[in-house]
Amino acid sequence: FAINMDQLQLGEELGNGAYGTVKRVLHKPTNVAMAMKEIRLELDDTKLNAIIMELDILHRAVHPSIVDFYGAFFIESCVYYCMEYMDAGSLDKLYGVGVPEPVLGRIISCMVKGLKFLKDELQIIHRDVKPTNVLLNKRGDVKLCDFGVSGQLDKSLAKTNIGCQSYMAPERIKGESQNALSTYTVSSDVWSVGLATLEIAIGKYPYPPETYSNVFAQLTAIIHGDPPELPDTYSETARDWVSRCLVKRPEDRATYAQLLSHPFLHEDARRNVDMRGWVARALQWKDEQKQQRRLRQQESEPLHP
Ligand code: ATP
Ligand code: MG
Repeated sequence: FAINMDQLQLGEELGNGAYGTVKRVLHKPTNVAMAMKEIRLELDDTKLNAIIMELDILHRAVHPSIVDFYGAFFIESCVYYCMEYMDAGSLDKLYGVGVPEPVLGRIISCMVKGLKFLKDELQIIHRDVKPTNVLLNKRGDVKLCDFGVSGQLDKSLAKTNIGCQSYMAPERIKGESQNALSTYTVSSDVWSVGLATLEIAIGKYPYPPETYSNVFAQLTAIIHGDPPELPDTYSETARDWVSRCLVKRPEDRATYAQLLSHPFLHEDARRNVDMRGWVARALQWKDEQKQQRRLRQQESEPLHP
C-alpha cells in the first residue's frame, strides 16, 4: 500500500540534518509510529517521480540491522520519506554516557552485518556511515539508516560543504577534489565504520575540528597523517579490529567478511550483551544532560522583569 500525507498525524521534531527535518508521525490507518524525513528539493515532477521510484528498492531492504522503510511520496518540491521510528534516537547523542567494550562490539557487529546485507543482497553501498545514521530503540536494537539508493536524489541534494566532520575515506576526499565519483567503493564505507567506531569509543570525533586551523588542514591530516587508533584502555583485539578498518590504501582494508570473522566480533557473537540496559542508562544520561543545559541557560539569562 502507498503512504500519503492525509494518513499521517504529525508529532514532535526528532532532529535536523543538512538536508531536512525528521518528525515523529503516527500512521493513522495502522496505528504505527513512524519517523518522517522531509527533504526540500527544487525539482520538477518527472525528477521527483524518478526519486520515488528509485526509493522503492528500500522495500527490499528488510534486515534486523536496517531501519524499516514504509514508503515515500512528494508534495510540491519536497520528498517525504517514512521509516521505522527508533525510540532511543541516534548514537551520536547516546555514546557520551560511555561505551564499554562489549557494547561497542555489539554495536559494530550490527553495523557490519547491516552493511554486508546491503552489499551482498541489494548491491547497495551505504556512503554515509556515521553515528547520526546509527539508530537505537529501547529494546536494544541497533539499525542503520540513510544509505544512498537514489542516484537522482543524490544528484539533487545541494552539496554545500562537507562540514567539519568528514567520515570520508582518504581516497574519496582525494577523489572529490578531482571530481572522480568512481573512487567510491565498498571499502570506503569500511573506513567510515572504523572512524565511527573510534568516535563511539572515545566519545568524540577523532579529528577534532578545534585542533586544525581549517577544514583543509583537517582533510590533509586524514589523507597524509597516520590513521587514528583506539586507546589502550581497550583490548588488543578491539584495537586490532579498528586498525583493520582504518587502513589508508583501500585495497588493503578488511572486507566485511573479514571484519565479521575477526576475533573481536567472534567474541561478541559468543557473549550476552545487555543492550537494553545500556540504552536505558544512556537515555537517562541524555535526559540529565538536557536538564543541566536548560539550567545553565536559565542562569545565564535571568528572567527579565
Ligand atoms: P546529515 O544531514 O549530515 O545526514 P543527520 O543524520 O543528523 O545528519 P538527518 O538524517 O536529517 O540528519 O536526521 C536528523 C536527526 O533525526 C538524527 O540525528 C536523529 O537523531 C533523528 N532521526 C532520524 N531518523 C530517525 C528515526 N528513524 N527514528 C528516530 N530518530 C530519527
Ligand atoms: Mg541521517
